Amino acid sequence: MTVHIIGGGLAGLAAALKCSERGERVKIYESAPMLGGRCRTFFDPTLGCDIDNGTHVVMPANRAVMTYLGMIGARETLIAQPSDRIEMFDMLTERVIALRPSSVWNPFWLFMNDRRPPSVSAMDLIAGFMLAWANPRQTADTALQSSAAAKYQLWDPFCTAVLNARLGQADARLFGKSVASLLASWHGPPIPHFADETLAASFIRPAVRLLGSRNAEIALTAPVTGMKIANGRVSEISVNDMAQPVAAGDRVISTVPPWTPLIAPYLPESMRSWPVSAIVNVHYKVAHELPGQFKGVLGSSGQWILVRRGIVSVTASAAGRWLETSAEEIGTVWWPGVAAALGLPADAVPKFRVVKERRATLMHGPGIDAARASLPKIATNFAVAGDWIRPGLPCSLEAAVQSGFAAASASNA
Ligand SMILES: Cc1cc2nc3c(=O)[nH]c(=O)nc-3n(C[C@H](O)[C@H](O)[C@H](O)COP(=O)(O)OP(=O)(O)OC[C@H]3O[C@@H](n4cnc5c(N)ncnc54)[C@H](O)[C@@H]3O)c2cc1C
Repeated sequence: MTVHIIGGGLAGLAAALKCSERGERVKIYESAPMLGGRCRTFFDPTLGCDIDNGTHVVMPANRAVMTYLGMIGARETLIAQPSDRIEMFDMLTERVIALRPSSVWNPFWLFMNDRRPPSVSAMDLIAGFMLAWANPRQTADTALQSSAAAKYQLWDPFCTAVLNARLGQADARLFGKSVASLLASWHGPPIPHFADETLAASFIRPAVRLLGSRNAEIALTAPVTGMKIANGRVSEISVNDMAQPVAAGDRVISTVPPWTPLIAPYLPESMRSWPVSAIVNVHYKVAHELPGQFKGVLGSSGQWILVRRGIVSVTASAAGRWLETSAEEIGTVWWPGVAAALGLPADAVPKFRVVKERRATLMHGPGIDAARASLPKIATNFAVAGDWIRPGLPCSLEAAVQSGFAAASASNA
């Protein structure tokens, strides 16, 4: 009896780990030449080193991700940012402002002036939490009862980073739920965590080692190109257009995104054409010795900067407007803002690599989250996973891992 897992991103790996832990035979089919999907690392010849497709932030409240890392023995490869302050450099005022959130055990932090940016009041913060009860047909911007300064300094950057949508685009309630779950954390101060080295070193290679020790098979460059359903069950899958039977008792878990031709025909039209949102990253290789750090930039093209091992990675979420701009122009135009935030010379642009992810996540606009609850049942031995199916969560590592674990349990039923 085999569990056939289509897609080797985080959802697929999470499902494979859970199934193989129970002693089930697992086979992963991945269309790309590498595992990781939207959470991947590759060698960049221009920079001469491995880089991630984009900076991935994990928060202590992401319990499924922490469980996943614990399972593969990689929990310690995730490092917290060096201080308890989330700093943002404001290009308009050229000043650094900071948020110092505390855990849910100390809710009084909301009322402490030194824990909030100067123009953000306790009521502004509470207004963000209140969005968890907002009308899901409203955008976060419409529903949010906070000052314009708080929107600019705090809520718009936070929304853009977490939902990959600006306040004026985002589902108010989904954003509120994210604020509540990420900032009111029971698991220590809500401080961003990152892969110490690369995404592959934290999330992929240790999982592959563990799966290998459990005799799981991993087929790369192996797209599943078709699927036959007979008598309510998946009876055959085609890998690279070669049909192979799905034996009685075997199960199939799909973790491919909703727009892929494999799964799209089985979804309602509304889900097939779900809008998506882009993320663009620029990785600069800097000669200067810089301490590891993570900070936001307000009023600039790139919104978040991660400095790690000589690479300065700059992220712009909700970045559709950059997709048609050349990589050369993006890297050059973004640099002065990055240089100002890090105190580096603006004139000498270091070597860089631009990664554009056109379909980084769904566009989490009003109404999308509610639609996710109505995923149709496709076949009895078939389960669907992927970051896009978890109601109440934005497309994220947490959603992907939760969905993989859940599909593994469902396919065991
Ligand atoms: C630039 C960027 C930054 C991000 N930042 C964050 C962050 O800070 N924090 C966070 O939590 N999340 C972040 N995310 C989101 C996170 O990466 C995704 O939510 C998560 O990786 C999705 O995992 P998945 O397994 O559901 O999907 P995917 O990673 O898309 O995996 C699906 C896999 O299926 C494969 N596939 C597709 N079709 C087929 C087929 N027919 N046959 C076989 N294989 C197939 C694909 O190649 C892919 O490997 C970011 C995403 C991007 C792109």
